Amino acid sequence: MIKLHDKYFKPFISAKEIDAAMTRLAKEIANDVGDDIPVFVGILNGSFMVVSDFVKKYPKPCEVTFIKLASYEGVKSTEDIQRLIGLTQDLTGRTVVVLEDIIDTGNTLAEVHRIFKNENVKSLKIATLFYKPEAYKKDFKLHYIGIEIPNKFIVGYGLDYDGLGRNIPEVYQIKETQHMTNLVLFGPPGAGKGTQAEFLKDKYHLVHISTGDVFRFNIKNETALGMLAKSYIDKGELVPDQITIDMLEAEVEKNSDANGFIFDGFPRTSAQAEALDKLMESKDSAISAMIALEVDDDILVKRLLSRGKTSGRADDADETVIRNRIKEYYKKTAILKDYYSAQNKYFGVDGVGSVEKITERLAKVIGNL
Ligand code: 5GP
Ligand code: MG
Repeated sequence: MIKLHDKYFKPFISAKEIDAAMTRLAKEIANDVGDDIPVFVGILNGSFMVVSDFVKKYPKPCEVTFIKLASYEGVKSTEDIQRLIGLTQDLTGRTVVVLEDIIDTGNTLAEVHRIFKNENVKSLKIATLFYKPEAYKKDFKLHYIGIEIPNKFIVGYGLDYDGLGRNIPEVYQIKETQHMTNLVLFGPPGAGKGTQAEFLKDKYHLVHISTGDVFRFNIKNETALGMLAKSYIDKGELVPDQITIDMLEAEVEKNSDANGFIFDGFPRTSAQAEALDKLMESKDSAISAMIALEVDDDILVKRLLSRGKTSGRADDADETVIRNRIKEYYKKTAILKDYYSAQNKYFGVDGVGSVEKITERLAKVIGNL
């Protein structure tokens, strides 16, 4: 992954793949051109690298010239094309091949056609290394296409983001989501997970996704997923993981500009942990850490019993019930501890002490991620 200005980009097309596409283009064009000496016209700035590599691969005599057009602002193509340097030589009767780095909306190409309208060239062919079919809005024929790509912003191999990235020999694609801190928060009952989640949420501007809340929200609002989940719950069956994951995905998408997420109550099994990894990967992100608050059983029992006295929660009143819940917690999380430890993502944090002290310990772990 690389960072240019404020944005992150991930590897997308290797130098080798680019080279193969360029070789193929040079061969195809040389075949079609026959014995003519073509004039290759590069569109500056982006195409300097394409042109340079292309003509080295071109097996026969040729001429090279450039025109300079500008259309892009930041990561968006604009309608307004500026002609910065036009044609500087007479191309009457010549075989012309325009070499583009990338064709996106086709606005630049429209300008190229305007430029050649009165030139009386013998033939005008368009070649582009990259082509975004989903973005293309024009009818001009593209005679030679190197690689078709989805409608996402790329950099490298001549293409820039606000001036940077042109010199990179391979191509990177913009990340859907920018860098995120995604935490899986764990703690036995009574460990103070809720209190600490509130703190983490505020300090790091994270979105707290409590699976229980998400379920209640979906069922209460009768969303499609909520109704589906309810049909299983009503039959007394477990809700399939995929439904939960789909609900979480909807939450993640709702907050796609977040700095990250705190997952609370999920995953519970290694299959769920894998599904969560896949979900985050599909958002160009990853789980950064599993943080587990560690509190000695006897302290938990004391805390819960005293909470039971004021809250009146039945399951906080009986020591045997409490101890069973704690045991159950360790039985269930052991597997996840292993799962995240294997990726060096497990962090146990001492959950005994004042709220501020524990908060400090958590901040230290997150600061080091
Ligand atoms: P169009 O006029 O076809 O929308 O866009 C053509 C020009 O926009 C290209 O020559 C290039 O300068 C710029 N462009 C289009 N798509 C991208 C992209 O994904 N990344 C970068 N860096 N520039 C692009
Ligand atoms: Mg260009």
